[in-house]
Amino acid sequence: MIETIYIEAALRQHPRAQHTIQRYSTARVICCEHYAEVFNPSAQNFRLQKIKPALIIAEKHNKYVLPAPDAYGIGMQHNYYFSHMLNCLYDCRYCFLQGRFASANYVWFVNYEDFSQAIQETVAEHQSESVGFYSGYDCDSLALESVTGFAGYFLDVFRQLPTAWLELRSKSPYTRVLLQQQPFNNCVVAYSFTPEPINQAIEYKVPPNQARIKSMNKVQQHGWSIGLRFDPLIYCDNYRALYCQLFHEVFSSIDVDGVHSVSLGPFRLPDRYMRKLKKLYPQEKLLASTFEVKQGMASYPQQLEDEMMDFVTSELSKHIPQQKLFPCVN
Ligand code: SF4
Repeated sequence: MIETIYIEAALRQHPRAQHTIQRYSTARVICCEHYAEVFNPSAQNFRLQKIKPALIIAEKHNKYVLPAPDAYGIGMQHNYYFSHMLNCLYDCRYCFLQGRFASANYVWFVNYEDFSQAIQETVAEHQSESVGFYSGYDCDSLALESVTGFAGYFLDVFRQLPTAWLELRSKSPYTRVLLQQQPFNNCVVAYSFTPEPINQAIEYKVPPNQARIKSMNKVQQHGWSIGLRFDPLIYCDNYRALYCQLFHEVFSSIDVDGVHSVSLGPFRLPDRYMRKLKKLYPQEKLLASTFEVKQGMASYPQQLEDEMMDFVTSELSKHIPQQKLFPCVN
């Protein structure tokens, strides 16, 4: 439930903003000139704000579409990301957004038409080459769909752009908009998983795997391509058994031929984010693990990282052809 809404003064009459303010009619509405006044000050307590984040309705003015990090990719020739929202409904202890942003409030950029224009221009620059657009970089693509209508809008944009691929990456069991719409080829609905005991221990507010597997199955049966994301891989003593169990649960519940791509990646975080997370959660066991810092990134010691990547790759290869496997490594 959203109890506080900040809104940039210039957006008071914006239809998406008005609709949301009417919907949350009991919320406190506070005007600001620019979202950064509320979102950027450094003396904010991310952990406290995460209990009841406010919604900040804002307009993005530039950099609608950005090049994706090098390691991103699920088979397209070019890769970009775009963020209609900053921050997430869920609260995973390893999430890099906690290090990236000073505030846990949700910033929602309502000027979808400008994003759409930039996406079309980016696609045009690459003529007939395939271009991937990732929408789950700074947020979860579907978790706040009932507030933002994001997927409902952008599915229609990508339906008209056959060389552009949209990845909706989510830990949400939300399905409504996907089941209402006619599927098309160039959209991948990608579900992120960790083994259930890890999900329960460190992915706060994320629904159980079984709920999401059920939703994924419905979405696939409706005709959408699905993706599986095992990134980051989280270490624990019995990680081998837990990941084998997870793969059994997932692959026995879906049509493997209808899986577009499976990606996996080691646990890694910019070291400066890691230091911030450790301060936020000094009791957190995950963050007390031994990490190595290489080129500013904190990750498990190389030998352990290699061992986990090799093991998981080998297990996944038992379920999925090699050409659908995309390791995400820097
Ligand atoms: S679901 Fe993804 S974006 Fe949301 S808190 Fe977890 S890791 Fe972060």
